[in-house]
Amino acid sequence: MIRSLLWSLCLASLALAPVQAGALPQVRLFTTGGTIQSKGAHRQKLMEYSDGRVTPSELVDDLPELRDVAQLSYAEISNVGSGNIDTKTLLTLAQQVNAWLALPEAAGAVVTHGTATLEETAYFLNLTVKSDKPVVVVGAMRPFTAVSRDGPMNLYNAVRVATTPQARDMGVLIMLNDEINAARDTTKNNTYRVDTFIARDVGPLGFADSDSIVFYRRPIYRHTSHSEFDVSKLSSLPRVDVLYAYQESDDAAVKAFVSAGAKGIVNSGGYSEPLAALKDKGVVVVQSDRKGSGRVVKSEKVAAKGQVTADNLPPQKARILLRLALTRTTDPVEIQRIFDEY
Ligand code: ASP
Repeated sequence: MIRSLLWSLCLASLALAPVQAGALPQVRLFTTGGTIQSKGAHRQKLMEYSDGRVTPSELVDDLPELRDVAQLSYAEISNVGSGNIDTKTLLTLAQQVNAWLALPEAAGAVVTHGTATLEETAYFLNLTVKSDKPVVVVGAMRPFTAVSRDGPMNLYNAVRVATTPQARDMGVLIMLNDEINAARDTTKNNTYRVDTFIARDVGPLGFADSDSIVFYRRPIYRHTSHSEFDVSKLSSLPRVDVLYAYQESDDAAVKAFVSAGAKGIVNSGGYSEPLAALKDKGVVVVQSDRKGSGRVVKSEKVAAKGQVTADNLPPQKARILLRLALTRTTDPVEIQRIFDEY
């Protein structure tokens, strides 16, 4: 208990401490919650557990090996399941990560997150962080209390990656299962397996192996310090909803979205009749796809309807990009340019 308290005080004060020559790089851990910070009733409970149970100090105190890698400080943003991450939390997180990385002594940032919506927050940061210093988003598929939990190794690797010079200007990275993936390209693919995060179309960027961190390629699409989006003064974002496509879907959901104030709708399939009328209502429509990989090809037919195509972004990520695009313009031609570049 006393050790935990001293370690917490020490961590909390590190951000203010001057960096000594040869000292370890300074990394700040921003915690938001999720399974990596959850507890089950006992060690065999892998799938039933409660979010919001592990504090940041408990998380880092559990892993003394982090002290060999970095001078770690932390900031708690939230401690919730990732289904509860809202716009306010996203904006606060981006603003605090940016404030940290702007400090000369900051080497990188790590963000803990629930895996259910981790890819959305990672892509949001990929578009709004104003630094080329490494930002690594990490989660776990097994609770903190489980036999053979994956959180500690994922966190250890995330901090290692955040201190790695080769991770600079790679955009925001996702770290689980020893794999380093790009925020834009990666989605959660399996409800329970620890190898759930996969960049289906393009593969991982590299690996966190025990001997070294290795990268094999770099992301091409615009990100972080190359991004035009600025959320530093924003306290809200335009509402954008996602329409799930299925046989016999009618206009009920579209009408509900519009009356709830949607400024954009991302469609997840080709069944778009109810969406045609939105052009005259000033609601921007983006065509994505529910299949989870592959491009939606740009066509003259879609452009003539005043609609935008999402390239290979899945609907939940197209929604993030459309919300940010709508902070700058409502012109579908300009929004198509944004989808082509990010
Ligand atoms: N309950 C979790 C969440 O917050 C799932 C996870 O983190 O794996 O998304």
